[in-house]
Amino acid sequence: MSFDPKALRAEFPLLMLAQPPLHYLDNAATSQIHRSALKAMSDHDMFQRANIMRGTHRLAEAATAAYEDARARAAHFLNAATPDEVVFTSGATAALNLVAHSFGDTLRPGDEVMLSLAEHHSNLVPWQLLRERRGIVLRFLPLTADGRIDLAALADMLTPRCRLIALTHCSNVTGAITDVATVVAAAHGVGARVLLDGAQQVQHGPVDVQGLDIDFYAFSGHKCYGPNGIGVLWARGEVLAAMPPFLGGGGMVGEVTPEGSTFARPPQRFEAGTPAIAQAVGLGAVLAWLSMLPWRAIRAHENELLRRLLAGLRGRSDIRILGPVDLDARQPVVSFDIAGLHPHDVCQVLDRHGVALRGGHHCAQPLIRHFGLDGANRASIAMYTTQADIDALLDGLNDVVAVLR
Ligand code: PLP
Repeated sequence: MSFDPKALRAEFPLLMLAQPPLHYLDNAATSQIHRSALKAMSDHDMFQRANIMRGTHRLAEAATAAYEDARARAAHFLNAATPDEVVFTSGATAALNLVAHSFGDTLRPGDEVMLSLAEHHSNLVPWQLLRERRGIVLRFLPLTADGRIDLAALADMLTPRCRLIALTHCSNVTGAITDVATVVAAAHGVGARVLLDGAQQVQHGPVDVQGLDIDFYAFSGHKCYGPNGIGVLWARGEVLAAMPPFLGGGGMVGEVTPEGSTFARPPQRFEAGTPAIAQAVGLGAVLAWLSMLPWRAIRAHENELLRRLLAGLRGRSDIRILGPVDLDARQPVVSFDIAGLHPHDVCQVLDRHGVALRGGHHCAQPLIRHFGLDGANRASIAMYTTQADIDALLDGLNDVVAVLR
């Protein structure tokens, strides 16, 4: 399959319909939705809408088959051993909370969970809450000067009490990709599990959870060109099988009596109540589409734009880029500070130029503080981003400085 950025952009209705034209560079917060997901969701609701699992009429069977097909597509995208390893959640945050509650319930006081100072709050606060509930110990890997997770510290910080290393696969602030092989080798040395928060990685291509040799993977649909309100927790089959339920309700049980209940096998054990069925179907459609794309060409396109953006920002003495400034092991997410200017003001002025940028702490306060800041501007590139989008940002920055200084 060849890759034509212009033709591909036409597959994202909002970008085509936006008037005046939109330079959307807030993709790390939410990407625009691909037409395959929109069509799958509307077809589902028009022709197959019914509750799943429990019905025996034909519509319920069609809806159940579509939902399970979406699970199979997610499993294929992640190279999971079986679809039963895929749990649908409302998003990455819910997936991470599920692990912190359920896997967390198997931990004992004094057991350790290793995080890093680069984590999104979604992979930090649930573990702090678990620390309150169960008396576990949290350890935080420090950061290098350019804001990467400092894996050189891993060996000294790991102890035999470590049960889990939970890290971001890619930082939502710096775009830095974590060296997973080093983490997994260290974790195996002490018998710890490995969780990756893939919220910022999956929009840049399929993931091979078996190849990575990890135990948990979490991501959200709305950041990978799919619907919102839906996400995935993947967990290694034997790990998932040993985890107790998190939420209770319909669909996750076997026998229920007033005295107690038995529980379904995974993944149903972790999908209490009616799930976001149409959204799951939409996510399945977009993951099937993503699985077929020519990723080498897309990466080259995204990297070319990243190079242009980094060069434009580096050419200005009042701008500091947070994080790695090379193209090695990073995704096209770039946060930067403009001396003396508040990110919210910067984003407001850029909005007048039709440029959508994000400003704030990006739900990663420890990482932002590492750079001595309260907030930063962030531009994030997607497969449909064009050179014109990058140039509109760089031109807009001249106006930002003229207006705000
Ligand atoms: N993890 C990372 C690295 C993120 O960037 C985000 C969202 O920005 C999340 C987790 C949480 O995702 P969601 O809000 O879709 O649950």
